[in-house]
Amino acid sequence: MNHSNEGMRQLLAGYRDFFKGNPVRRGFCALHAEQIANTQNPHSMVVSCFDSRVCPEAVFNTNDGHICVHRNMLNQIDKEDFSMMASLRFAVESLKVENVIILGHSDCNAVAKLQHLEELSEEIRSWLDRTHTCYRGATLEEAVKNNVLDQLGHLASIDFVVSAVRNRGLNLEGLYFHIADGLLERWNPRQNRWDFVPVD
Ligand SMILES: [Zn+2]
Repeated sequence: MNHSNEGMRQLLAGYRDFFKGNPVRRGFCALHAEQIANTQNPHSMVVSCFDSRVCPEAVFNTNDGHICVHRNMLNQIDKEDFSMMASLRFAVESLKVENVIILGHSDCNAVAKLQHLEELSEEIRSWLDRTHTCYRGATLEEAVKNNVLDQLGHLASIDFVVSAVRNRGLNLEGLYFHIADGLLERWNPRQNRWDFVPVD
């Protein structure tokens, strides 16, 4: 994991532009639209939480056609969820993305609610409890980060993901976005720690 590739380079460069307030989107661009009108070649799939404050296309300053986004509460990789698995298989095997990224975030209410499942309505409780994800951590930030790692673990237990990692170097990434100040942390599996993504 944590391979450098062109997709990650673009995402982290895009993130720096987002942080500095240099958006790439400037309305409809006929030239770009022409390039993607009949084909898509996204470099990454991002699995993000449902939270309205975390928008992957904005955080990575991407243009249309650059990333596929799948969102659900808790940014869960759930092997029993047909919607999730169909998107994941299509991204990995057909679109051949370079990266699958789990994007967690600060103040994640879905993770916080793992401590109070019994208080939730049935629909929300049964979703949050689907993969029997646990609240692990002394603080909410630690629990969210551990949830990102749990989801990376789920990814690494899916046959076609494992094959893509082995056969063509598919990269699995964990990221944590700080809503209050726009900072971004990246899981570093070699050092077993989270590192802030430089913004300069
Ligand atoms: Zn969330």
